[in-house]
Amino acid sequence: MPDFSIGVDLGGTNLRIAAITRDGKLLEKVTLPTQVPLGPDHVITEMCDAIHRLTATYKSAGKFLGAGVGIPGIVDLTTGMLRKSANLAGFEEYPVRAEIERRLGARVVLENDANVAALGEQWLGAARGVPNMAVVTLGTGIGGGIVLEGKIWHGMNGMAGEFGHVTLEPEGHPCGCGNRGCAERYSSASAILRMASEAIASGEAPSLAQAAASDPEFGAKTIYHLALQGDEHARRIFRTFGRYLGIMLAGMVNVLNLDMFVLGGGVARAWDAYAPTMFEELRARSLVYATTSPTDSPITDSTHKNDSSNKNNSSKKEAVRSAEPEGLLSRKTIITLALLGSDAGLYGAARVAILPS
Ligand SMILES: [Zn+2]
Repeated sequence: MPDFSIGVDLGGTNLRIAAITRDGKLLEKVTLPTQVPLGPDHVITEMCDAIHRLTATYKSAGKFLGAGVGIPGIVDLTTGMLRKSANLAGFEEYPVRAEIERRLGARVVLENDANVAALGEQWLGAARGVPNMAVVTLGTGIGGGIVLEGKIWHGMNGMAGEFGHVTLEPEGHPCGCGNRGCAERYSSASAILRMASEAIASGEAPSLAQAAASDPEFGAKTIYHLALQGDEHARRIFRTFGRYLGIMLAGMVNVLNLDMFVLGGGVARAWDAYAPTMFEELRARSLVYATTSPTDSPITDSTHKNDSSNKNNSSKKEAVRSAEPEGLLSRKTIITLALLGSDAGLYGAARVAILPS
């Protein structure tokens, strides 16, 4: 049995703890409810009890190397405290890292949950073997993380990777962050629901109105299924979603020139419905993307099969390509789906525990 570390995903609803070997094999995973109302001391005690049980089980065969904890909110990397969290009320004044280290007697790394999810995808998921990448998580909002040379890019104080709050519409919909027209107001599950509500209110989308009235769980998933069935209103919503996502990604590709952008989160799986307009915008708005796009990729090819506007972009891209020296263009910008789902954060948290700080 090889050495192992512990990865923790401390969410507002679930507390998940996994023992994972140094080479990425899952030994055991435990899921508990996060009892936030009972206070941070209670939650941390339950977490450490579960970690103790796992390390007791596996440490006879391999060395326990430490624990990484992914946590929603802004983590102060110096003090190991949570500066701000919407999901973990009462944790802001609590010395999270110090308390876990004291109880475990081991090194603990506290990290933002989106950052560890990005590291997980880079280590064992869609970006395995790809040193420079970013994950964009499309859920209720948009989260993200950047990994450079196999390590999380924190920025100055851990706040890098806020892709969801890039401005796409200067006078657009107000965002909880105080800005207007943020990306997450246009390319998230809540944006899809907003666009559906607007279409229903306009009286011009009877199919959506009917679905909303009959389905108590009417949401992005319902609208995606309607789109798959060919409903034009639902399809239009996802085309708009893809268009804004493409605009945001074009900016990121231009600035970061990373090898790979991995799309995660529930709505990302509606790929068929939004990818064509996303790639269209990427090609049109990012010369970096147009120059490095994987034209022979079955993903991009199939999504552009019936798209006449793409022909122009393709020929433009070919022109650029022939003007560049061969070697510069041998690496491609890959936009693809995440592979690990919610386990990405657990793997990334275990990984961050064994990386040199
Ligand atoms: Zn915002």
